[in-house]
Amino acid sequence: MSRLVVVSNRVANLRSANHAGGLAVGLADTLKQREGIWFGWNGAADGVTGGEAQVERVGRAEQVTVPLSREDIANYYLGYANSVLWPLFHYRLDLVDYRPAFFESYQRVNETFARQLAPLLKADDLVWVHDYHLIPLARCLRKLGCRQRIGFFLHIPFPPPDILVASPNHAELVDALLDYDVVGFQTHTDAGNLKAYLGERLSAVQLGDTRFQVGGRNVTIDRFPIGIDASGFAAMTRQADDEVQIDLMRRRVLGRRQIIGVDRLDYSKGLPERLKAFDRLMAQHPELEKSVTYLQVAPPTREEVGAYGDIRAELEALVGAINGRLADFNWTPIRYIHRSVDRSKLAPLMRGSQVGFVTPLRDGMNLVAKEYVAAQDPEDPGVLVLSRFAGAAEEMDEALLVNPYDIDEMARSLHRALTMPLAERRQRHAALLEQVLRHDSKAWLDAFLSALAHRR
Ligand code: UDP
Repeated sequence: MSRLVVVSNRVANLRSANHAGGLAVGLADTLKQREGIWFGWNGAADGVTGGEAQVERVGRAEQVTVPLSREDIANYYLGYANSVLWPLFHYRLDLVDYRPAFFESYQRVNETFARQLAPLLKADDLVWVHDYHLIPLARCLRKLGCRQRIGFFLHIPFPPPDILVASPNHAELVDALLDYDVVGFQTHTDAGNLKAYLGERLSAVQLGDTRFQVGGRNVTIDRFPIGIDASGFAAMTRQADDEVQIDLMRRRVLGRRQIIGVDRLDYSKGLPERLKAFDRLMAQHPELEKSVTYLQVAPPTREEVGAYGDIRAELEALVGAINGRLADFNWTPIRYIHRSVDRSKLAPLMRGSQVGFVTPLRDGMNLVAKEYVAAQDPEDPGVLVLSRFAGAAEEMDEALLVNPYDIDEMARSLHRALTMPLAERRQRHAALLEQVLRHDSKAWLDAFLSALAHRR
C-alpha cells in the first residue's frame, strides 16, 4: 500500500491527537497504520522560514515540522490566509484586508514548504494537502519535478465566481488548484462554485461526473463531507464530571431547559444574531423567563487579526445588555464562556441541553452540529436548530433549518424546538443520528483516499 503524506498548516500531535477531535485522530490512526508523514509548521512564533525540520517518529509515522519567521507568520498566516482567504471564502468581502506583501509571503512559504517536503517523498506516495493555507503547494511541488498523486481538501466554503473574482489573485488560485489530481470540497455547493468558475472563465470540458479537463490538465472535483467519530463522541457523554452533573441536577430541580452554542469566537459564526434571536424569543414568550438558559461557549481565536477584536467587543456588549435587562438574582439568561472547554466536558453538556443552536452565517461543515446529534439520548433527544448556510445543512435536513440573518425565524425555531413533542423529536433525531453515524470521519477518510488512489 502507498504511504500517505499529509500536509497541513498545523500538525496534530501524533502522540495525543485524541484532544483534537475526530479528524486529527482519524488521520493520525491512518498514518500510524499505513506508514507515512504528517508535515507542517511547528507553530513556534520566531523561527527562520526554511530552517531545519524537526522529525519525530511515532509508530510507523513521522511527524515533520518546520519553522516560520515572525514576518511570514504575520503575512502568510495572519495575513493572506486569515485576513484575505478566510473572509473571502466565507463570502465576507467587507472584511478582506488585501495587501500585496501578504500574497508574496503566501507564495514564498508554499515554495519553501515544497522544497523541504520534496526530498522526503517516495515515488508512489499519496500526498494529501489540507486547507486554504496551502493551495499553491501542488504547483510548487510539480515545479520541483514531483509526479506523485496529490489531492487537496478544502475544509472551509468555496465562494461563487462573482465573489472569488473580487480577489486580485483569483486566477492564480484557481490555476494552482488545477495542479492537484483531486480537489475535494465539503458540499455540492462548494464543488459547484469551482465548476462554475472553470466553465465560465476557463472553458473547462466535463469528461465525467467529477472529471474535468482544463487546458491540458485533468482534475477530479468532488464533495467529501467531513464527519466526526460519532460513537467516540457519544461515549464521552457517559463520563460527565461532578461539576457538569451537579449543573444538570440543579437545572432539573428548577425545571430549567438549556440552549447550547459552541463556536470559536469567529465572525463567521453569527453569534450576535444568535444572541438577538434569544432576546427576541424572551420578548415574544415572557412565560419562558427563568425556565430557559442559553449557554454559549466561544473560545478566543486569531486575536491578532483586527476583525476578531471587533466581534468580541460586540458580543460582550450584547451579552451584558441582555443579561442586564432580563436577569434576576436567581436566573442568568445567557451564560457566556470565553474560554476553550475540553471536548470531554462539551459532550455531556451537549447531552444535557434541550436545544443545539448552530447558526453560522457561513461554515464549511460545522462539526458541532454533528457532535450535538451524536451526544443526545435517543429516547429523549434535544432538537438541532441549524443554519441553512452551514455545510452540514446539506446532509441534515431533519434539523430545524433557519436563515441565520433572520432573527424572527430563529426565535420562532427556538420556540418550536423548546415545545416540540417527544415523538417528533425522536423521529428527527433518529434520522439525523443515522446520517452522522454512517458518514463519520472514517468514511470521509476512506472516500477521499480511495478517490486519490484510483485517480490514475
Ligand atoms: N471545540 C472544543 N472546545 C471549545 C470549542 C470547540 O473542543 O471550547 C471543538 C468542537 O467540539 C468541534 C471543533 O472544536 O469539534 C469546532 O469545529 P467546527 O467544525 O464546529 O468549527 P471550526 O472551529 O472548525 O470553524
